[in-house]
Formats: sequence, structure tokens, C-alpha cells
Amino acid sequence: MTLSIKTDDIDLAALLQELRLWVEMETPSNDAAAVNRLADRVELLARDAHFSVERTTGTLGFGDILGVGTPRPEGYNGRSILVLAHIDTVHATGTISGKLPFRQDGDRLYGPGIYDMKAGVLMALEAMKLATKRGHALPVDLLIVPDEEVGSKSSRPMIEEFARNAAYALVVEPARDGGKIVTARKGVAMFDITVRGRAAHAGVRPLDGRSAIRAAARLVLALEALNDPSRGITVTTGTIQGGTGRNTIPAECRLQLDLRLPDTATAVEIMDKIRAMTPVDPDITFEITGDLNRPPFAQSEAGARLFDEAAKIAAELGIMLEGMATGGGSDGNFTAALGVPTLDGLGADGAGAHTYDEHILVSSLAPRTALLANLISSLDSRA
Ligand SMILES: [Zn+2]
Repeated sequence: MTLSIKTDDIDLAALLQELRLWVEMETPSNDAAAVNRLADRVELLARDAHFSVERTTGTLGFGDILGVGTPRPEGYNGRSILVLAHIDTVHATGTISGKLPFRQDGDRLYGPGIYDMKAGVLMALEAMKLATKRGHALPVDLLIVPDEEVGSKSSRPMIEEFARNAAYALVVEPARDGGKIVTARKGVAMFDITVRGRAAHAGVRPLDGRSAIRAAARLVLALEALNDPSRGITVTTGTIQGGTGRNTIPAECRLQLDLRLPDTATAVEIMDKIRAMTPVDPDITFEITGDLNRPPFAQSEAGARLFDEAAKIAAELGIMLEGMATGGGSDGNFTAALGVPTLDGLGADGAGAHTYDEHILVSSLAPRTALLANLISSLDSRA
């Protein structure tokens, strides 16, 4: 394979200068005005590059959402490559003048949000510019959201709207553990169960009571029996609360569960099993509520092919691309759940996301931007 875009094609000095400006504009998720100031800057750069910009006013108190598109042929209504990014950070305003100043130490460049994920947004814009210059089969939509760090509540509908028109989704969240990209994320479900029995005096009328704690104990064993490490299923009873006093047969007991599920079919299977659980004693009742919080992001066959394509390109650039699965969530969960082949973790390499040690590895910027640009150039509509 001969790549059309080389690492040397990236102007690293210009990229770093712009990145510094972005990091110095602090953007905590809950400060819409601050997030919008950076959105202004991104919009300016996008327009300079002759990309289309669709700016949607923020809702729920968050900043605006930016949709940046590469030029389309006249009348084009086919699918596109969706690049997902966010410009909010977990760091409060003032972090840069206190605990996490912008500074370089060898290959490490520190600053709030630099790794998660301002470098990634900038790399995506740069990759789109390069790909546009060299040619690419599918148009690209870069969707930049203002609230990923707090669950993407205000932007999820638009992420899903773009995903429905996407042949692929590339998420420029930071790379993990030495440049790995994320090929699968488990889904997370939360359940609450209330077990109800009948109270009675433990000494005087014990036979009148129906112990909710005893029934809950039996239920916990049934729930935990659903754990299956070989299938990636985790069911955890995180808390248990019940009873009113030592000498009273307990009338009520409450459980809180955390479920991690590798794919949608498994999620449905396990959640159905939990919802169908019934008490042995007819005088006991279970009230079971809960659902998926973020859908699982399992690697599909098309997702595996997308990874192979990226790995081939990476090899040409001297990057050993490795995939990994994680238990955490990102906006990639939403696109993958809609059946869009998704690769996540294509942003900068580094470490310390969400901490005062947050940094990127400067040496990763140009090669990974070239990877992104070549990937964009090489993808066509054979999803
Ligand atoms: Zn992030």
C-alpha cells in the first residue's frame, strides 16, 4: 500500500501553536460561554478551510454543537464518515494557572483537556484538510459536542442523527495505554430492586412474618449466578439495605445492581432474566426497575474490517495499532449501537485524562494525524 499522506506532510509547529491557544481557552462542560469561545475559534478555522459549518445553539445550559463538513459534490445525498469529538473538559476554570499549567517536559506536553481531547479535535480538522487536498471518496462530518464529559445529554439526539447517515464513525478520543485504539466498550445497566415481605415481632409472632431479607439473600445468589466472565457478563450487587430492627422480621429490603454487558443481545438476555425473577414465597414481592444507561459497543464484522484497514495504514506509518476493549463509555457507544462500524481512541497518545498529570506525547501527533487522514482517504461506502 502506498499512502498518499505522509507524516512529513503535517506542519507540527503550526499544530502545536494552535493547540496551545485551545488549551489556554479553558472549557469546563458547565460553562457554556467558555465552551462557545472555543467553538468560535474552531468555526473560524473550519470556514478558512472552506468546510461547511452547521452551528446549533446549545440546550440544557450547555454550549453550541458544531457540525463541520467537507465539501460535497453537487446534489450528493449519500453517506459520510462521521468523526466524533468534544471540546469540553472535566477541568474547572483556573486549572491552567494553578495545578496543571501548559508546559513541555521532553516529549510530554501538559495542559487541561490537551489529551482528552483538544489534540484530537485539532488532529481531526487537520486530517480533513489533508484528505480534502489529496482526495477522498466519502465526505466527512466532524461533529463537535460541548457536553461529552457529563454524559452528552444535550448532544445525543444530534449524534444519533448524524450516525444514521454515517458509513463509519471515527472517534478522536485519546489513545489508550501506548497508542491502543478502542474497538469495543461494554454497555452499562443499572437496576434497583425492592423486595417486600411482612413485618412481625421476632419473638411473639415469628410465623406471621415474611422476611424480605431472607428473600433478598436468595435473590442475590440468583443474580450473582448470572456472572459469566467467559462471556464478559458482570452482575454486581453493589448495595443492600433492609430491616428496621433486630427483633423485627424485616418487611423490606433494597438492592442496587451494576451490570456490564458485552453486546445488545446479551444485554437483553440478562436484563430479561433479571426482570423475570420471582420470589419462591408467594407472600413476597419483587419490584424490579432498571435499564441500559449506555448501550454496548461490540465489535461487529464491519467494525473488525475497519480496524484491519486502520491497522494496515498504521503499519505503513510505523505505528503498531492494537485494539482493546474497555468497560467505560464514550459517544462511540451511541454510533456503534446504531450499527455504524466504529473505531474509538484515534486521538493523541498520552496519559492522565481527568487528572493534573494530563499530557500528550508530542511525537504521536503527526503520525496519528497522518493515520487519520489516510484512513479518511481510503474509506469508501463498502461498510
Ligand atoms: Zn473525552
